[in-house]
Amino acid sequence: MSDIGFIGLGIMGRPMAANLQAAGHKLFLYDIGPVPQNLLDGGAVKCASGKDVASKAEIVILMVPDTPHVEAALFAANGVAEGLSKGKIVVDMSSISPIATKEFAAKINKLGCDYLDAPVSGGEVGAKEASLTIMVGGPDAAFEKVKPLFDKMGKNVTLVGGTGDGQTTKVANQIIVALTIEAVGEALLFASKAGADPARVRKALMGGFASSRILELHGQRMVDRKFDPGFRIELHQKDLNLALQGAKSLQISLPNTATCQELFNSCAAHGGSKWDHSAMVKALELLADHEIGSGKKA
Ligand code: NAD
Repeated sequence: MSDIGFIGLGIMGRPMAANLQAAGHKLFLYDIGPVPQNLLDGGAVKCASGKDVASKAEIVILMVPDTPHVEAALFAANGVAEGLSKGKIVVDMSSISPIATKEFAAKINKLGCDYLDAPVSGGEVGAKEASLTIMVGGPDAAFEKVKPLFDKMGKNVTLVGGTGDGQTTKVANQIIVALTIEAVGEALLFASKAGADPARVRKALMGGFASSRILELHGQRMVDRKFDPGFRIELHQKDLNLALQGAKSLQISLPNTATCQELFNSCAAHGGSKWDHSAMVKALELLADHEIGSGKKA
């Protein structure tokens, strides 16, 4: 059983670390905020810094919000890089920039260590149920060493390609998720304004070609008006920013990704940065002057 370092114990990191602990791994933990008591009660060790974690663990996992947080966790004073020794593996499971990922990996490789980018999809529910989809970039040999850990946290684990390809796959995932939320929002808004019961419309559509996990879960949120996160709008804005910046450097157009980002921006302007991303529908409702299920008729 390898000793595992886990840095970033928020909505996702906490249950992912708990699943590794349940599988019998000794955990060394660090967060700039509080470290969850249930993990310490289960025998995990609280560390003073990322350096401390990396000096004690063989594999160091990161699950922090964004690119600057990964950079700070790895390379700031008392960061992971200072505690690493040859042969250790850094696994970044946060969703961050594919370009920065290549720079971070090169610096870690210079220390004689491997680097995998391994962002996830499946949300808090998937993290708790150990059913995450994990999209990995990096060398085959390092992937094979870490695969047993991925299998404790997820169900659909794929080595997509070289360094950065996991993050690129995650950006692609976030484009599909944003555009599907927008489509579900428009459809339920249309149905509601036309006088149909949006809950029944959602149910009817679940059996057909338009069914999706997003219609199922986020369609339900839109009907129930439940927008507590979940996945915060500010995090999805970060992901679409990566998509749009990438599109600019690749010289391609992603018109509907740009529209979805504008709808998220509108939510943020109305105080919604921390709402669940399904609340994108609120921006559409403002444009339509109609709230789903409010009974206002055309
Ligand atoms: P979160 O904000 O709940 O947790 C992040 C944790 O990282 C916090 O506890 C914070 O204190 C800690 N942290 C920040 N900077 C740090 C540093 N330098 N050193 C140590 N700890 C630090 O975020 P989350 O929802 O758990 O998301 C984490 C990552 O997973 C993000 O990249 C997000 O895009 C991705 N993700 C989230 C979801 C979701 O549904 N929440 C789903 C898939 C992927």
